[in-house]
Amino acid sequence: MEKINLKGLTLEELEQFVLSIKEKKFRAAQLFAWIYRRNVLSFDVMTDMSKSLREKLENMAYIGQLTASNIQKSTLSETQKFLFQLNDGLFVESVLMVEEKRRTVCLSSQVGCALGCTFCATGTLGFKRNLETWEIIDQFLAIQRLTGVDISNIVIMGMGEPFLNYEAVLKACHLFNHPDGTAIGNRRIVISTSGIIPQIYRFTDEKQPFKLAISLNSPFDNQRSSIMPINKHHPLERLIEAARYYAKKSRQRITFEYVLLKNVNTRQEDADQLKKLLSGIPCKINLIPYNAIPDSNWQPTIEEVEKFYSYFLNFPAVVSIRWSKGQDIQAACGQLAASTGELSV
Ligand code: SAH
Ligand code: SF4
Repeated sequence: MEKINLKGLTLEELEQFVLSIKEKKFRAAQLFAWIYRRNVLSFDVMTDMSKSLREKLENMAYIGQLTASNIQKSTLSETQKFLFQLNDGLFVESVLMVEEKRRTVCLSSQVGCALGCTFCATGTLGFKRNLETWEIIDQFLAIQRLTGVDISNIVIMGMGEPFLNYEAVLKACHLFNHPDGTAIGNRRIVISTSGIIPQIYRFTDEKQPFKLAISLNSPFDNQRSSIMPINKHHPLERLIEAARYYAKKSRQRITFEYVLLKNVNTRQEDADQLKKLLSGIPCKINLIPYNAIPDSNWQPTIEEVEKFYSYFLNFPAVVSIRWSKGQDIQAACGQLAASTGELSV
C-alpha cells in the first residue's frame, strides 16, 4: 500500500484517515498540532502517542517535506531567498523578509507561470505545473524549520498565478489560518492575482476571508495587454467591475499593485487614468519600482518614481511606494525564476 502524505490534509481529512486505520478520532487533532504547529517531520517524536501507534503510522503514512537546495542572504536587508527542490526534481523559490514589526514569507503557488507578463522573471520560464497544497504549506514550514523565525505574515506573490491554482492555494491559506496550526490571522494572508476575473467572483461569493491584491500595472487596455497578455482575455473594464463587486460584497479594501516601468506607465496621463479607474473603490495602491531582471531596461529612476507618486497627493486612497528588498539576491518582487538547481546570481 502506498503511504499517505499527511501534510496538506485538513483536520477533517486527518479524522477520516485515523478512522480509516481504526484509531480514535482525537488522534487527528494530535497529528494536526504536531504537523502544523510543532512542525515535526517524523512520528517518532510524537510523545503523546504509544510506540505501537507511532509504528503503525510510520507504516501507513509520512509527513512530506521539501528539500532546501540553496539559501541566499541579502546584504541589503534582512531578506533570505530559499530554493526548494520538489520531489519530482523541479524547483521553486520562496522569500523571507524580516522587518521590525513583521516577518513575512512570500510563497510560490505554481512552478513557473503560464501568463507570460513581459516584465516578470517567472513569466519568462513558462508553466511547469501547479503546486500541491502541501508544497505551498511546506515552503512556510521549511523556512520556519531552517531559520527558527516566528513568521507573522504570508503573501502568495512568489512564482505563479495563485488564482490558476485556486483550490490548492485556498486550502493552504485556510490551513495557515487554523488556530491549532500555524495560526496566521486571515488579514495577514494576502493573495495576489494578475486578474483572473471568474476567480475574483468566486473568491467574493465564497466569502474568502483573506486579503486580495490585484496586479494592475497599467490603466489602459492596450498598454496593459502589451505587458500582461492575460489582459486580452480578462480586460480592464471587466476586471475593475469584478474588483468593485468584491469591494462592495466583502466590504474589504483591495490592494492594487502597480509596477513602475521606466518610460512605460509612469506618465501623468497614466496616473490620471488610474485615479479615474479606481475612483470610488475602497483600496490601497502599492507602487512597486521595477526590479531589474537580466536583459531588462525598465528600472525607473528615483526621480521618476517620486514624480509618479506626487500625482496621487490629492487622491483619497492610501498610496505607498514599495521599495523592494533583496534585489542583490534577486529575491524582490518578480525576480523569482528557479528554472534549475543553480541560482542565477
Ligand atoms: N501572479 C501573481 C502573483 C505573483 S507576481 C500576480 O501577477 O499578481 C507578484 C507581483 O510582482 C505582481 O504584482 C507583479 O506585477 C510583480 N512583478 C513582476 N515582475 C516584477 C519586477 N521585475 N519588478 C517588480 N515587480 C514585479
Ligand atoms: Fe505570472 Fe504574476 Fe509573473 Fe505575470 S506577474 S508572469 S501573472 S507570476
